[in-house]
Amino acid sequence: MLPSLAKKMSATYVEMYVHLVWGTFGRAATISASIEKPLYAAMADKCRELRCPPLAIGGLADHVHLLVALSPTIAVATLVKDLKGSSAHLITHRLTPDTLFRWQTGYGAFTLRKSDTPTVRRYVLDQKEHHDKGTIRAALEQFDAGHSHKERTT
Ligand SMILES: [Zn+2]
Repeated sequence: MLPSLAKKMSATYVEMYVHLVWGTFGRAATISASIEKPLYAAMADKCRELRCPPLAIGGLADHVHLLVALSPTIAVATLVKDLKGSSAHLITHRLTPDTLFRWQTGYGAFTLRKSDTPTVRRYVLDQKEHHDKGTIRAALEQFDAGHSHKERTT
């Protein structure tokens, strides 16, 4: 093998985008307007801490969507577990200390091509409008029990 080719092949280039979605426990409308902003900010921080840069975070009172660039060093299940754990802790202990906050058990995770990221990013950021107007994309809203491909790990 040519030395130049061997050198090229040893380089690692990873670009993976994943759209994540999950709900509150029992789909309770517990993400109030007052906690939404600090919650999203903390989730964005956690994503960066885990080297999964967030491209968009959005949602409603009963569920959240995230579009992230997935680090090759972390499993999706671990990313979701860490995001859920740290955010539930933040809400329960700091944002609304008088109530116990829980996320649902499962989640939805969907990989996408880079060319699709602007569309999905817009979709995540415009969540309230899409749910208000009934223009949701069913394929991107799968996270409840009853859907296929569901995970029950976190
Ligand atoms: Zn949604």
